[in-house]
This record gives sequence, C-alpha cells and structure tokens, in this order.
Amino acid sequence: MSRIRARFWDPAGEKYGLPTYPWQMAPAHLLTLRQLTARGLRPGGQGVQAQILWRSRRHGAPGVRAAYLYDVRFALPKRTASPAQLEALGKANAARRRCTECGTDAGYVIPRRYGMCLDCALGPEQVGTEVAA
Ligand SMILES: [Zn+2]
Repeated sequence: MSRIRARFWDPAGEKYGLPTYPWQMAPAHLLTLRQLTARGLRPGGQGVQAQILWRSRRHGAPGVRAAYLYDVRFALPKRTASPAQLEALGKANAARRRCTECGTDAGYVIPRRYGMCLDCALGPEQVGTEVAA
C-alpha cells in the first residue's frame, strides 16, 4: 500500500470520525448513492456509513475529495408510486387535456398560450388546413 493510500486507510474511523477507505479499497457492501440508485435501491433510514477519500489533481480544484458510502444491507427498494398516487397523476394529466372552452378531453395537453383546445382557439377549419398542410 502506498503512503497516500495508507493515509486514507481508517476502517475504524479513529482518524476521520467515519470509517474511511482509499479509492477502490472500500468493502463491497458499501456503495455510493449513485451505485445504490443503479441497483434500484435508496439508503433508507441510514446515514452515511463510511467514506472514500482520495487526492484529486483535478485542475482548478486540487485537494482531498470525499465520496460518501451507504451500507447495501440497510438499503431499501426505491419507492414506486402507489395506486392512489398514479390515480392522482392520471387526474392531473386529464385536467391538462380538458378544454376550458368546450369542456371536452382534447386528447392532448392544452397549449398554455391558448388555454383551450385548438378547435376552440383557431376554429376547426384552420386546424383542418394545418393538418392538411
Ligand atoms: Zn375546446
């Protein structure tokens, strides 16, 4: 292990107050938020369990950088919308398609600049010519 790596090797968190590993040396069950998301997981109630520290040579922002890690064993599946939430979304979308002028479902989201369906806003003839054109 190089000196730099040894500097960031602190699995007990004695030096950094949080279990700390050098880049690519964290245990397999500790994942970043992005890695959890890629597996369809979220941290759940747990806080940050550990961190990866590395020395960045990135131009303009040199210094020590940290990535926070979560324990995959405490992670939970990502929340999916409940039937009630889906129904509410469906209603909201239906409301966005409803013309305030004729009250029908236009079958598309009402353009904000008209505030009504294209039949009401432009007249059926014009819509017809637009479609034909
Ligand atoms: Zn209308």
